[in-house]
Formats: sequence, C-alpha cells, structure tokens
Amino acid sequence: MFDHVFRSGAIGGLTLPHRIVMGAMHLNLEALEDGGAALAAFYAERAGGGAALIVTGGTAVSPAGAGGPGYGMVGDPSHRAALRRAADAVHAAGGLIALQLFHAGRYALPGVAGTDGGAPFAPSAVYSRFSRTTPREMSADDIAETVADFARGAEAARELGFDAVEVMGSEGYLINQFTAPLTNRREDAWGGDAERRRRFPVEVMRAVRAAVPGFPVLFRMSGADLVEDGTPPQDTAALAVALAEAGADALAVGVGWHESPVPTVQAQVPEGTWAVFAKDVKRALRGAGHGAVPVIASNRFNRLSQADEVLAGGEVDYVAMARPFLADPAIVATSRAGRAEAVDLCIACNEACIDRSFGTERVSCLVNPRAGYEAEFAATAAPGASARRRYAVVGAGIAGLQAARTLLALGHEVEVFEAGAEPGGQFRLAGQVPGKRDFAQTVRHHVAELAEHGAVLHLNHRIGHKDAALLAAFEGVVLASGVLPVRPALPGLALPHVIDYAQAFADPDALGERVAVIGGGGIAVDLAHLLTAGRAATSTPEEFLAAHAVTGGSPSAAPARPARAVTVMRRGGRVGAGIGPSTRWVAMAELRAAGVETLVGVEYEEITREGVVVRDAEGGHRLVRADHVVLAAGQEPERDARHALLRAGVPFEAAGGVTGADRLNAVRATAEGLRAAHRL
Ligand code: SF4
Repeated sequence: MFDHVFRSGAIGGLTLPHRIVMGAMHLNLEALEDGGAALAAFYAERAGGGAALIVTGGTAVSPAGAGGPGYGMVGDPSHRAALRRAADAVHAAGGLIALQLFHAGRYALPGVAGTDGGAPFAPSAVYSRFSRTTPREMSADDIAETVADFARGAEAARELGFDAVEVMGSEGYLINQFTAPLTNRREDAWGGDAERRRRFPVEVMRAVRAAVPGFPVLFRMSGADLVEDGTPPQDTAALAVALAEAGADALAVGVGWHESPVPTVQAQVPEGTWAVFAKDVKRALRGAGHGAVPVIASNRFNRLSQADEVLAGGEVDYVAMARPFLADPAIVATSRAGRAEAVDLCIACNEACIDRSFGTERVSCLVNPRAGYEAEFAATAAPGASARRRYAVVGAGIAGLQAARTLLALGHEVEVFEAGAEPGGQFRLAGQVPGKRDFAQTVRHHVAELAEHGAVLHLNHRIGHKDAALLAAFEGVVLASGVLPVRPALPGLALPHVIDYAQAFADPDALGERVAVIGGGGIAVDLAHLLTAGRAATSTPEEFLAAHAVTGGSPSAAPARPARAVTVMRRGGRVGAGIGPSTRWVAMAELRAAGVETLVGVEYEEITREGVVVRDAEGGHRLVRADHVVLAAGQEPERDARHALLRAGVPFEAAGGVTGADRLNAVRATAEGLRAAHRL
C-alpha cells in the first residue's frame, strides 16, 4: 500500500526514508518563554510519528522580518536555545529537521515586537490589505543586508544542529514580493523586468549556498501567486531554473498569497488542487536539464492515498503535508502500518491553526487538541500511573467524544451516554454541508475508535434524575451534554412551518422552496449552504480551477437558479461573524454565488403563515416570504444531566456547550473535552 510514498529518496546529502515531508507551520510556540519545551515536544512527536523531514515554522532572519510577536527570530538567544532544543528532540526521536528561514516583508505587522518598531519594508511601497500597512521601499543597503541575513540564518541553522534549511520564498512573503509586478515596481537592479525581479531570490539562494556549502538547502517558491499582477507563469518557470542553477537542493512549491481572492487551504478547495503547479515547476526543470532537482508539492494534501496518487505520476518527487500532522502526528506511521482508516483527518477548518497563526494564540487543532500542548498532556498513561478506572461521559457530541477517547488513551474504562439516536451532536450536522464531508468522517472515526478500545456507547439515553444510581456506579463523569436550540419569544412561533435548525438538518429535503432562517451564526451559514447544495460548490480540482479562472479557464457560466430561495437574517453584527477569518470570506462568497440573501440589523416582529415580518434598520417593514421558517438564533446549555450528577454525588468535570453556549465552537469543545478528561 502507498508504494510511491514509501520509497526512500535524497535531498542534498540527506537520505529520506519516504516521500512525505512535514510542511512549515507557524505555531506561536516559537517565542514562548518555556525554554523551548513546547516546541521540542511538538516536533519530537511528529518525528516519532514518521515524518521524513520536518520543516519548522518560519523563523525570521531579522527582527524586521518577523510575521508577528509570536515568531521566532534566528538572532534572538532565547529563540536559538529553543530551536536547538527542538532539533535535538527531533534527532532523539529519529527524525530530520530543516529550519525555515523567513522574512515577511510587507506582511510583517507594524508596531508589534519583532518588526523593529518601524514600518515593515518591501521591494516597493505597495499597501497590503493583509497587514493593513504600506511598507517603506527597501534601499539597496536594505537589500544587501537582507540577503546577508538569510546567509547568516543558514549558518545559524547548521550551528544549531538542524539538518537543512528551507528558504521561504512563496505565499506572498518578502522574496515572493520581489518576483511579482504587483509588489515590485522598482526600476533599478532589483526590478523592472522579469530577470531583475528574480534577482533577489536568486541572490538569496546564492548567498545561502555559499554560506553553508554542502548543507541541504530547500527553496519554497510560489507556483502561482493567485493575485492580479502576480508573478507570470513564464517567470515562475524561469525562477525555478535559476534557483536550481544557484544551488537549490530541492524546490518546494506553494501557492497563493494572503491577499488572494482564490481560496487555497479551505475545505471548499478540492484536495490535490494545487499539485498542477508543482508539476509545472518539475516540467520547467526537466526542460532546462535540471530534472534531478527534487520538487515538493504542497497545499491541500490530506491523505496519504492522494499523495501516493500524485507521486505515482512521477511529475513530483515529494509531497509536503502540514496541517495533517497537526491533526495526527502519526499519520505516516499509522498509514504505513496499514491502518490509514485510523488516522485523525485534518478537516481543513483552519479554526485552531491558520486562524490562530495570524494572532498570538497557541496553534492547536480541532480534532487533536493536544497539538501544541504535548508537553502538558500525556498521550497515554504514564508507566506506573494510577489504576484503570471506570468513567462515564454524558453526551457524544464532539466534546464528549474527545473526552472519551482521551480517557481510553489514558487506560480507563469508558461508557458514553447520548440522548440522541446518533453520536456527533452539532458537529455531525456540519458533516452534511457540501465541502465538510470530513466532519462526518471525524465522528465516524471517533466512534470506531471508541468501539475498538472497548468503550460502550449508549444511544437514545438522555441522562436525567432517574439515572442518579446509574451514575453513582462510576468513579467520575465528564459532563458534555451539549446545548439546545433557543426558541426566541416571537408571535407565530407555534405555526406548523416553524422548525428549529436541528429539525432542518435532519430532513433538509422536506423544506419548501422559500426558507427564512432566523439567526446568522455559523449554523445558519452551514444550513444555507446545505439548502442550496450543488449550486456553488465545485468538487474536482479541474472544476475548481476553472471556476476561479486559475489555469487559463474562464469562470463558469452563471450559476443555475438556486433550488431554494434562502434568506438568512440577523439582528446585529455580521452574518457568519463567528467563523474564522480564513474561512468566512469563502463561505460568504459561496452563499452569494448560490443566491442566498442576507439581512442584518433587523428586528423580528412576527412569524405569519406567509413568512417573517421584520423591521429593518431604517424602521421599514418587510415580509420575508417563506414556506419554512428555521430558528437558528442561539443555544442554551442542556442542564438536566448536571442535576442528575449533583444528586448522584459523583465527581464530574464539564466540557463543551454545557459550560456555556457563548462563543461555543468545536475547537473550544474538543479542547475542553481533553482537559476535562485529564482533570478527572
Ligand atoms: Fe486541520 Fe482544523 Fe486541525 Fe487545522 S484545526 S489542522 S484545519 S483539523
């Protein structure tokens, strides 16, 4: 199985046991004041899980190059100590690790520690929507100094014990800003035509090569910027050849900028979409006689089966996976053992990883809340740990499932009581939404894991007062009974065409042609997607690329008439406000493409047989016509089980929506499930 993945290979002088590289991720662990404990534990676990080569998150080659206050800097003594500890830990776990050398350029955030207190700099003074700043134009001295910074970074990496470096030249960061006409408006030796625009990356590559002769150097280049006036395809091909000639030992190929209007890493992007650009780079290298230089494809590879497929074609040499290693550090080892179905899949939600990486919160993972906290929470029971205990979990939503699998991993006996007919709770509902099928797979996987480890799952068992004696038989309980939909006080609520969101998800086909949704949070957005399914979503890489006019195709014709007219209404704020920043804009664009109407700032007056009467911000009245009115206006904790537990006198810890429905999301729920299980 996975014959093309499990072939050894070589990058520079490194021998790699197989073809899966762990791609760089910024973690916000890099600058923690813990002596590198969390960073080392994070990488060591992934090395132990079988990554052939780990590439660290971007490490700034100078203070001005830091992407934010949580970035590691190669010149900072405490960060260097943390990096050395991480490299040592990876080696102790039998792995290899490359330090990514990074400079954010105009993507550095102004005014935060790490940006030298001054304005970020870039090839030209072009405003960035991402960092919301206009950088100053780099002087010739800035350029020379920055080239030297990369070289010094490579020397430091070798001295700190790393096995290789990767120069970050894609995703719209400094080096990429030089290659794109959009951000390089210079008319000097560093811009003005394609050759001069690629001079900076080539000079960086040459300087790094000269600084660390014989040391493996990977270069991550942009295969497609996906911004208007980005690096033209012919320049990308020429850059690949020039980098090979400057001594790169491998080219990793990224896509997209933070300002790109094309989604690249969201669940809506079909898996494997971006391999085409890595293949283009390989073709360019072969055409110039540099076909021996390995090319690493990246972005939207979730499963080893996909990696195997693209490797089988022989058009790329390695596949880099990043977020899948957050979700399951042992993805390679587990797949190699013939148990690919037991891998915790990354569901591309971005909620605990990419969205956090833009701020300062520690990066983690929705499906693996231990990610980033490996040094705090043991994965399994410590040798000699206390005896096997008998615990119950009330609720089989995502918080309860996480608590149960954690308790099992710690060696305990577990019984789970779920009020509904199916496990998964709110999370299972999301699994019905186009582009979110892996959410449902996560629930199936967790349930299978419970069964494999002997846990008992009781469905249709709502814990209440009658269960006090049953609960008293356990040594502890995780209470994860979840939430119930709120029913707002509104005239007309009892009309037969008024249902709550759970009923709508249970049988979406039963809803009429016109649907009004009261409430505009993440659940309402998901429901609107489900009710207009097939109108905007694309399912294959080719369809996706054509729909976004990426590979020379033109955008698809106007979408077919939506099957339903859906209106999503909200009193205050923005529709979908709780959805993470990396995903909300994609979700909203899809709703617009599907013809979904959104109304904000409305007051609900009454529900009638014809629909919902609302008053808009200007005081005008409107009837939103609807065959069905769906209530998605919030949730409240389900408290019955808590009362039963108090009566039983059994120790318990709460997790998920039952602790409070405010700002509830699946990331919070699984993190609380993990913590509750460890506290018992
Ligand atoms: Fe994947 Fe979501 Fe985990 Fe990020 S938080 S690694 S996107 S599952």
